[in-house]
Amino acid sequence: MFRRGFRRGAMRRAMQPNVPPLLQRAHELMAAGNYPAAAEAFEQLARGAETRQRPKTGQLYLQAGRARILAGQKNVGVAHLKRGLGLMAARPVQLQRAGERVVNELKDHGMAAEAQEIADWLKTRLPVGTEARGGAPVASKKPILPATCPACGGVVRADDVDWLDEITAECDWCGSPIRASE
Ligand SMILES: [Zn+2]
Repeated sequence: MFRRGFRRGAMRRAMQPNVPPLLQRAHELMAAGNYPAAAEAFEQLARGAETRQRPKTGQLYLQAGRARILAGQKNVGVAHLKRGLGLMAARPVQLQRAGERVVNELKDHGMAAEAQEIADWLKTRLPVGTEARGGAPVASKKPILPATCPACGGVVRADDVDWLDEITAECDWCGSPIRASE
């Protein structure tokens, strides 16, 4: 007696992106402005990802940190931001992009001291020369991506995503392929 249904099911699952419902929920809570609940969801996702040594762990901590700061819990938030950036240390390009964004966001929240602390820390982590890049990178014409990932609902930043081919990017949150409009 062979369980054919199981094989078909397994194959179908393998072709669909594996999007955790909690990730979708976390993005929804963040978009709805429910920051304490979003923070809890992103913290849970980040801890789970860290245990499994997933590559997206750093940005889950960053998002948990943003949510805590928006919820008014600045100390916890900054701790998450530092942890998230620390987990990106092996990827200088990613670290630089994420670090600059975090510094700007902290300034926008009036957290100048925290912004300076993270900017100083970044200087010690980034390879020499990364910081003095200056000027805009050569503008290669990229197709337009949707604002949010159709699979998980996460915000898509065209500057940050990895491109799988000319018109397909990989969601930074769930890894789903995202097709650009041409
Ligand atoms: Zn996604």
